[in-house]
Amino acid sequence: MKKILVTGGAGFIGSHLCERLLNEGNEVICLDNYFTGSKRNVVHLLDNPFFELIRHDVTEPFYIEVDEIYNLACPASPIHYQYNPIKTIKTSVMGAINMLGLAKRIRAKILQASTSEVYGDPKIHPQTEDYWGHVNPIGLRSCYDEGKRCAESLFMNYHHQNNVRIKIIRIFNTYGTRMHPQDGRVVSNFIIQALHNEDITIYGDGNQTRSFQYVDDLVEGMTRMMATGDDFIGPVNIGNPMEFTIRELAEKVIELTGSRSKLIYMPLPQDDPTQRQPDISLAKKALGGWEPKVHLEEGLLKTIAYFKQLENL
Ligand code: NAD
Ligand code: UDP
Repeated sequence: MKKILVTGGAGFIGSHLCERLLNEGNEVICLDNYFTGSKRNVVHLLDNPFFELIRHDVTEPFYIEVDEIYNLACPASPIHYQYNPIKTIKTSVMGAINMLGLAKRIRAKILQASTSEVYGDPKIHPQTEDYWGHVNPIGLRSCYDEGKRCAESLFMNYHHQNNVRIKIIRIFNTYGTRMHPQDGRVVSNFIIQALHNEDITIYGDGNQTRSFQYVDDLVEGMTRMMATGDDFIGPVNIGNPMEFTIRELAEKVIELTGSRSKLIYMPLPQDDPTQRQPDISLAKKALGGWEPKVHLEEGLLKTIAYFKQLENL
């Protein structure tokens, strides 16, 4: 049994990760300040004596003895990370420094939940890990993108300078149950709009692309990454290479919900990437043949069922 700290553990991805780690027989400490996460996401785990929930902000130091740390604390949706951009940068950067300092002191392995946003609006397609990205350092998204890029740099430097055992994964768009209903991300927005037969808000012309992975596939990739030997540190892309346009996503959601919603077009937010698709060759090779298993339709149906229940429909 390992003792594992998950920062941001009460969030969308973190709650699934905590559940998985507990099911595998580990002791899990979930740390969260509940900015975008919620106790509700982990309330079903509270009866488990090997689960501990702690309210704490990663911008403040934290001391504990654990074997592994998954560092997920950071708002992930544009609405939330742009709400208080300075705090977002502090969370990424000071959070990384605090968690890396902890990992160094207690000799724990530490995994950083980085993001495809480090590639910005990419000029290479699909994105491979050796691409340095195309990020606007002063734009609206920079608090998130540059915060995450700085965190990657900190991870690499703690590794090279202090021999900290690090792992970096770059997560591509992920969806699934326990997404925050008001976080403004496209999958949750479209599903909730469709379930209420409200207009589906497409930003721009809807021709921008994304590649969406279901959360279970991500969690599988994350745990496999943590289990790799100390010589493999990444960064490694974890995502589903199936790429489609945002308009196609809207049409799929309407079809699967049987909704009467119409598509409406709204202004495209600043620096919205035009395309995004992970090259997952490295993940496949380094993570024992890992690849996404959940098809879009299957994942969407599970997520739709979740939001139906949440919205009492
Ligand atoms: P989320 O907002 O649901 O989860 C983030 C969690 O971190 C929340 O529980 C929040 O309360 C907590 N948190 C935020 N600031 C904190 C702070 N200062 N101290 C302690 N806790 C704090 O988002 P998510 O989608 O679950 O994302 C989890 C991680 O994965 C994030 O680091 C995000 O950048 C990364 N990621 C997510 C996606 C995606 O598509 N969901 C894509 C790329 C990367
Ligand atoms: N988007 C949209 N309508 C919405 C929410 C988002 O058209 O109601 C678009 C958004 O402009 C972007 C894509 O969907 O092009 C994915 O947005 P999301 O915020 O989910 O993720 P990210 O932009 O961070 O990849």
